[in-house]
Amino acid sequence: MDNKDIGKYELSAYCAVLAKEFEWANSLNSMARQASAERAWSAISRFYDNCKKQKLGKKGYPRFKKEQTHGSVEYKTSGWKLSEDRRCITFSDGFEAGTFKMWGTRDLHFYQLKQIKRVRVVRRADGYYVQFCIDQERLEKREPTAHNIGIDVGLNHFYTDSDGNTVANPRHLRKSEKSLKRLQRRLSRTKKGSKNRVKARNKVGRKHLKVSRQRRDFAVKTARCVVQSNDLVAYEDLKVRNMVSQHVGRVPRLEATGEPVRVRNRHLAKSISDAAWTQFRSWVEYFGKIFGVVTVAVPPHYTSQNCSNCGKVVKKSLSNRTHTCQHCGHTQDRDWNAARNILEKGLRTVGHTGTLIASGDIDLCAGVSEAGRSPETPPLKPSRGKRKPKK
Ligand SMILES: [Zn+2]
Repeated sequence: MDNKDIGKYELSAYCAVLAKEFEWANSLNSMARQASAERAWSAISRFYDNCKKQKLGKKGYPRFKKEQTHGSVEYKTSGWKLSEDRRCITFSDGFEAGTFKMWGTRDLHFYQLKQIKRVRVVRRADGYYVQFCIDQERLEKREPTAHNIGIDVGLNHFYTDSDGNTVANPRHLRKSEKSLKRLQRRLSRTKKGSKNRVKARNKVGRKHLKVSRQRRDFAVKTARCVVQSNDLVAYEDLKVRNMVSQHVGRVPRLEATGEPVRVRNRHLAKSISDAAWTQFRSWVEYFGKIFGVVTVAVPPHYTSQNCSNCGKVVKKSLSNRTHTCQHCGHTQDRDWNAARNILEKGLRTVGHTGTLIASGDIDLCAGVSEAGRSPETPPLKPSRGKRKPKK
């Protein structure tokens, strides 16, 4: 805020200055201090990037940390030590936190010690957790299934695929909403600063934690299942942030403009965010890398308006749940139709990867274009440069 042109290196050098000034900063392991400087820098550089890219809306000016009830600390390769059986961890920096027994299902013996690049201590509503960041290439074998899939996400179902199968929406938050509300009420009735308030707050926190874990679990399992049983997964490139927007503004009813229309509505917002598409999508992409499955995000324009049978535009309102084509008579569930369009778009997008042939060398339709052109059409200009994209 006070100095211009401060970068990553100045920040990390400043750690040593802070360590001299503050006792507690000095107690922390020096590499952990560096790690927190790196984190601060990532917040600042993200702000810079957003400004440079002239991103619409908020640029994310870095904020100061608030009280650290759920703070975390990240060690690199020093300041901690695993016991011989790798069941306990000892923190050996100036805080003298001591030795902790670890509970969990992961077997740390599976990895080499030098693969552990970072150790993060995180506080959640139900206790302290330690996360190990492990440098390991994860690749898994998978037999090709000769099957491709397009996915349309929606509110009625979590998704509908191009074969017409649907996966129901997990409404974890809806289900837990009642009990959350009750807990929230109980919290607001307690006196500020009292012990009961602390207890009540913790209960609310635990409930939220449970919901977020259920959501994550669902996202991981569904994504893994989708990726494992297909060779290509296509889905819409949706900007979920717009959809979950809290503004109840203009409610566009027709998708005629080609813009992806999602109703902006406070009630729906909850179930949209609940459906956790973003999380699902990033897990699909993650598993795609691991299992060697192609994942394609296609632009969402017209996916629900076009006919998946003949390709013509069939305008319909959001409330119209069935696609009926006036041109070819094709009738299908709205989401199923969209999923088929998404798959088709996805397959088109992927195209050819591998050794590239310069497109100027071969003119595939040289012979055809001469013979096939009708006499009225003027001769084509020999276009060497890039052709203008069709509007
Ligand atoms: Zn049609």
